[in-house]
Amino acid sequence: MSAVQHPAQSASAPSPPPSTPPPQQQQPTQQQPTVAVPLPSGGNHSGNHSSNHSSNAAGSGASGSSESDIYGMLVVLGCNGHLPGDSGAGRRTSRLLLRRRPNGGNALRPTKKQWRATSIKELEGCRPQASVSYTLGRNQGFVVVEYEPDAQCDMFQVGRSTESVIDLVVSDSTPPGESAASDSTISRYACRILVNRTPPYTPRIFAAGFDSNKRIMLGEHAIRWNVTTDEVDGLTTNGVLINKPVGGYCPGSQPGPWFEVSIEGRLYPMREHRATPSHSDVLHAVDNSLIDGTVIDLCGVCLVYRSAEGLRRSPTLLELCSRVESLNQTHILCPVRYQTLVIRKPLQANPASAAGGGGSMPDDRQPYVYTGCGHVHGLHSWDRPGGQQQPDRRTCPLCLQQSAFIALRLGEEAALYLDRDGMPNYAFNPCGHMASELTVKYWSALPLLTASQLRPLCPFCSTPLATPATIRLLFQSDI
Ligand SMILES: [Zn+2]
Ligand SMILES: [Zn+2]
Repeated sequence: MSAVQHPAQSASAPSPPPSTPPPQQQQPTQQQPTVAVPLPSGGNHSGNHSSNHSSNAAGSGASGSSESDIYGMLVVLGCNGHLPGDSGAGRRTSRLLLRRRPNGGNALRPTKKQWRATSIKELEGCRPQASVSYTLGRNQGFVVVEYEPDAQCDMFQVGRSTESVIDLVVSDSTPPGESAASDSTISRYACRILVNRTPPYTPRIFAAGFDSNKRIMLGEHAIRWNVTTDEVDGLTTNGVLINKPVGGYCPGSQPGPWFEVSIEGRLYPMREHRATPSHSDVLHAVDNSLIDGTVIDLCGVCLVYRSAEGLRRSPTLLELCSRVESLNQTHILCPVRYQTLVIRKPLQANPASAAGGGGSMPDDRQPYVYTGCGHVHGLHSWDRPGGQQQPDRRTCPLCLQQSAFIALRLGEEAALYLDRDGMPNYAFNPCGHMASELTVKYWSALPLLTASQLRPLCPFCSTPLATPATIRLLFQSDI
């Protein structure tokens, strides 16, 4: 193990949570259900296409809360604003609004107390009210680090477990056309996010989450090291990675490098292989705070964090509908069939098919595009030598260039848009999800880790992008 520098020695390193009030003031125990709700002002930012989502704030005891209570939002990539079976009332949803918990903070922070337990029996017997236990190896016992309530922070947890301590329940996102892994690689308690309850509400991410017994138990394959004589840190087996956009999530920004987050919130370079049992030196130039547009990789599913301010810069669902309406009003014509094509508005989309990037029944006004040239047509049978089985061998009637011919559909998760005003006149190849130029170009430049390889994916449906990754759409009015 290489020696590491304590992050407190660096101004930009992850800062430990502030000191807490006396224990009797702390109310750490009860997890409040936190659910997806629209941002209260600026239109419907929720992307959830049913109004029943809006009633959930009261259900979490947030009545009387205001927009100033909103920290930000976690958006699950690949869901396109819909999750099959999502009623909007549960914790298995495509987006989670992070807002100030009405009944006080539920966060936990490490104390300086740690000890060795030589057996499970001893571990069970000495368990404090909250702890992180590191398994030292077969028959070598455990290192137990005591945790205590931190009333100045709210904690939100993400994972595969359906226990109430998990605020956002996630499952593996399998790209369309790829077989799902037989065993999920997402941890039941994958990560936790702590947000200061007072402005500026800086959210910070940590690997691993607490179970309902307020315990994190790391197996012998998890990496562990001593940061100082009285401080231990470690990495989870499959790791939690983050990517912060350089320059913010706004026009002109670029995806940043990937870093791995430790249990205590330090950042390390990505391991060469995800489960490689080693870690590098701490990087001091970055910390574990989440800025607008930070992508969080939980080994099987990715999330993007949008700050409350960032959401205000994103289009609302109504604005997305308005952009589509503007395109439709130009009376896009199929150059072959001379038929007016219609792009479906978000509210008209079929939720069951939207996330899959395919499968929706095309109607005769559905727009299609040749991926090589960008010419938009209706579905036509001209030059279809390979039939339905070989859609990538079509010749565009306008420019005679051969390429795939794919259906176009709007990227409907408004929180993924990089700019508020851009028209959805670009598309991802090969899934055909339309979005603004800046949005499409940003995500096509961000390699996401799937199936042990880094590759750009469509953020709306998780389809790996082809070459070229983006298509500039040429509607008939552009020709
Ligand atoms: Zn063409
Ligand atoms: Zn897509």
